[in-house]
Amino acid sequence: MIKRRDFIKTSAALGVPTAAILSACNPNEANAKTVKGSLENAAKTPLVISTWNNKLANQTAYEIIKKNGSAVDAVEAGVQIPESDPKDQSVGYGGHPDREGNVTLDACIMDSKGNYGSVTYLQHIKHPIAVARKVMDETPHVMLSGDGALQFALSQGFKKEDLLTAKTKADYKEWLKTSEYKPKVNIELHDTIGMIAIDGVGDISGACTTSGLAYKMPGRVGDSPIIGAGLFVDNEIGAATATGMGEAVLRSVGSFLIVELMRNGLSPADACKEAVMRIIHKQSYKDLQVGYLAVNKEGDYGAFAIQPGFVFALTTDEETKVIDAISYI
Ligand code: ASP
Repeated sequence: MIKRRDFIKTSAALGVPTAAILSACNPNEANAKTVKGSLENAAKTPLVISTWNNKLANQTAYEIIKKNGSAVDAVEAGVQIPESDPKDQSVGYGGHPDREGNVTLDACIMDSKGNYGSVTYLQHIKHPIAVARKVMDETPHVMLSGDGALQFALSQGFKKEDLLTAKTKADYKEWLKTSEYKPKVNIELHDTIGMIAIDGVGDISGACTTSGLAYKMPGRVGDSPIIGAGLFVDNEIGAATATGMGEAVLRSVGSFLIVELMRNGLSPADACKEAVMRIIHKQSYKDLQVGYLAVNKEGDYGAFAIQPGFVFALTTDEETKVIDAISYI
């Protein structure tokens, strides 16, 4: 671990503002609430961690790791649980549509070797994460979008499906009465799954999948499928993922920032906090939710959000538990 003074020196050389670093180094500063105990959390590896109350997804991923499976196979399988859950209205099947009534999906996956695959604005395919994995493994590209992503999925044997449910159709009809567009903190924005796993040999991978913001403009792509924004993995350092208002995460390339801050010595929790501070220094945050979750190579984990209400699920050999993230407000 770099000592705080050395870290500030390194950061100054890197051009990171000292005030921001100081606030990140001291969790009691800058209005951040403290939790019982400390911001530092250590878990033994292997582990699986994911945004929101995604216990079943974590357990599905962890089972694969227990059978000596790889972190990348684990996260791909884990996030498919909410993708096929019709009750989860922010991911895959049963996700809220855009303002024209179409369900459009964003997903990405990144492995321990730095390989990355992503699909954006994909329609009619229940498991966009599996298509992202195929983009990573089977193409010379890292990202396929819209109709190209759909054609690729069909060529790989994926089935075209109607992803709207009776509930999302009814919700959409109701929404059309006003067509008011105002994402609500922790309500419309609360189920994107970002998952990180460390497997039995210590390799790290991550996956992130979402239907994005309900009633978004057609063509809108959020942070979730974008490398460095919704997800970033560096097998030597750790990984980070995001949920919440994608536009704010994209503008600050949050997940990449967190991994770089961990590289420079910050704990996962402090790095997540610093990434939140970068957002709130620049824009009004009263109605804005962004939550970050990060893990380092040692299995220390942490999370930080703008608003209260962000929880994450952690699975280790001992148990699966859902933990409240610390928030700025
Ligand atoms: N980050 C996602 C997006 O902006 C939304 C979410 O986390 O629910 O598309």
